[in-house]
Amino acid sequence: MSDSPLGLDEPPQPRDPNASGVYRVLARKYRPQTFAQLIGQDAMVQTLGNAIRRDRLAHAFLLTGVRGVGKTSTARLIAKALNCIGPGGQGGPTIDPCGVCEPCVAIAEGRHVDVIEIDAASHNGIDDVRQMTDAVRYAAVSARYKMYIIDEVHMMTKPAFNALLKTLEEPPAHVKFLLATTEVDKIPVTVLSRCQRFDLRRIPAEKLAAHFGDVVTKEGAQAEPEALAMIARAAEGSARDGLSILDQAIAHASLEGGAVTGEAVRAMLGLSDRNATRSLFDRIIAADAPAALSLLRDQYDLGVDPQAMLKSLLETVHRVTLAKLGNEAIPGQAAEETAALADWAGKLGFPALHRLWQLLLKGHDEVAKAALPIEACEMALLRVIHASSMPDPGELARKIAEGLPIGSAAPAAPSAPAEPAAPRDFAQLLERLEAAHEHHIAARARNLVRLISFNEPVVEVSSHGLPGDLPRDFEQAIRRVLGKRWSLKVTDAPGEATLAEVKAVEAAAEREAVLNSPVVAAAFEAFPDAELIGWTNETRRTA
Ligand SMILES: [Zn+2]
Repeated sequence: MSDSPLGLDEPPQPRDPNASGVYRVLARKYRPQTFAQLIGQDAMVQTLGNAIRRDRLAHAFLLTGVRGVGKTSTARLIAKALNCIGPGGQGGPTIDPCGVCEPCVAIAEGRHVDVIEIDAASHNGIDDVRQMTDAVRYAAVSARYKMYIIDEVHMMTKPAFNALLKTLEEPPAHVKFLLATTEVDKIPVTVLSRCQRFDLRRIPAEKLAAHFGDVVTKEGAQAEPEALAMIARAAEGSARDGLSILDQAIAHASLEGGAVTGEAVRAMLGLSDRNATRSLFDRIIAADAPAALSLLRDQYDLGVDPQAMLKSLLETVHRVTLAKLGNEAIPGQAAEETAALADWAGKLGFPALHRLWQLLLKGHDEVAKAALPIEACEMALLRVIHASSMPDPGELARKIAEGLPIGSAAPAAPSAPAEPAAPRDFAQLLERLEAAHEHHIAARARNLVRLISFNEPVVEVSSHGLPGDLPRDFEQAIRRVLGKRWSLKVTDAPGEATLAEVKAVEAAAEREAVLNSPVVAAAFEAFPDAELIGWTNETRRTA
C-alpha cells in the first residue's frame, strides 16, 4: 500500500530500538497477526469464517475500504488462514491460523514463495499481468494455495484488467486472488462479478482509541485519554494513519520526557481546542464580528490551521443539529460541551443551522484554495456573521405577507424571532397567554374579568364576580409569558362585559343576520322544519 501522503509514516526520530537494532514503525509492529486482532471488522471475519468452515471459498476476493483500514492485513490473514498447517503440520484451512507453522511464519514475514504481493499502482501494465498469469499455471511450490495479493487494483490499465479477467474466468483450482482497492467504482463490473466482495468498514473512533491505548501500554509509554481520543478522530477510521500519528506523538513526548498530552497532539495536528471553538462559535451566532476575528487570530497565532478551525466549526454545527434532534452526547464529551450544545440547540432553528453549515462549508472550500488562508478565513467568518444577522428567506416571506418591516430582524441570533410588540388591548393580552399554552388562566379571564381600563402595565378590572385568587394567578402567568411585571388593579366599578359575553352577543347577532339573509330566509321558507346548525363565514375562513 502507498505511503501516507501526509508524510506521517515515519516518526521524526527512532527511539527504543528493539533487540535487532532495527526500529519498526508502530503501524508495522502492530499489524494484526490474527483475525481477533483485526479491529472493527467483526461482520467480515464472521462471513469469512463461515466460508472457510463450509469450504465455500471463492477463487477471487475483493477487499474494499478506505486507506489504512486493514485491507492488506486482511489479505495476508486470508493467505495464512488458507495455508496454515497447524503446529503439528496436519491442520487444514482455518479462520484461526496458528501463527507458528512454517507457512504462517513465512507469510507474516512476507517471504512465502507462493504468496505473491503485487502493487498495481506501480505494476499496472499488461506486461505485469501477463507475467503473473503465466506463472498462475504452475502449481504452488509448498503451499496449499498459490495466493496473489493485488493491492490498489483499480490502478490497472484496461488491457491489464482484460488479461486478468481471462484468468479470473477459468482460475486453476490451486490459485486464489485477493484484490484490494480504495476505489471500488473504478473496477470493471466483469471483474467485480467474479469476486467475493468484502467491504471493510471505517474503524469507529472509540475502538481506535482503545486500540491505541493498548499500544501505548505495550510500548511502555503513557498518554492522556484526551490525546488518544484526538488521534482516533484524526485517523478517520484508519488504524494505520492513527498509529503513524501516535508514533510521532510518542517520539515527541519521549523527547520531552513525559506522557503524550492532549495539548501536544493538538499542536502537532494543528487542531483548535474545543474551548476555543465553542467561544468562536458563540461569538459568530451572536454576530459579534470584532470578538470573532480576534478569537480566530489568537488561534492562528497558536499555530491552528484556518481550515482546521472552520472544520471544527462545521463539526460544531453538526453536533448542535444532532443535539436538537435529541441525540445523546458522544462518549467522552465534556459537560460544558454538552451544556453549550443544548443551549445553541434551543437558540438556533433548523433553517439557521442549515444556513450556517452551507456558509461555513463554502468558507472551508475557499480557504483550501486560497493564496491567503487566514485572510480568506476572516472573510468567510464575516460573511457568515452578516448572513446570520439577516432573516432567513422563510422568515422574510412571512414578514412580507404580514406587512411587517423586513429590515427589523434581531441581529442577536440567526432567525431568532423579533421581540413581539406589547399587546394593545385585553383580548390581545389573552391571545398571547393562549399562544404560550396558558389556556387555563386565559379561559378564566375570558369568562370572568370585567375590564375597566387597559394601560400597560396596569389592567384595571371590576371586582364584580372576580374570584379572589385570579389577580395573582393572572399576574404570574403574564410574568412567565411576557417576562414583564404587569398588575391587575381591582376596583368596585361594574366594568365592561366579559370577553366571553361579548363573543356570545356577537355570535347571536351573526346568527340573526344569517337567518335574515335572503338566501337562508328562502331556504327556511322551502323547508319549514329545518334548523340552523352552523355556518361558515368567508371572511372569517380566510382571516
Ligand atoms: Zn499456521
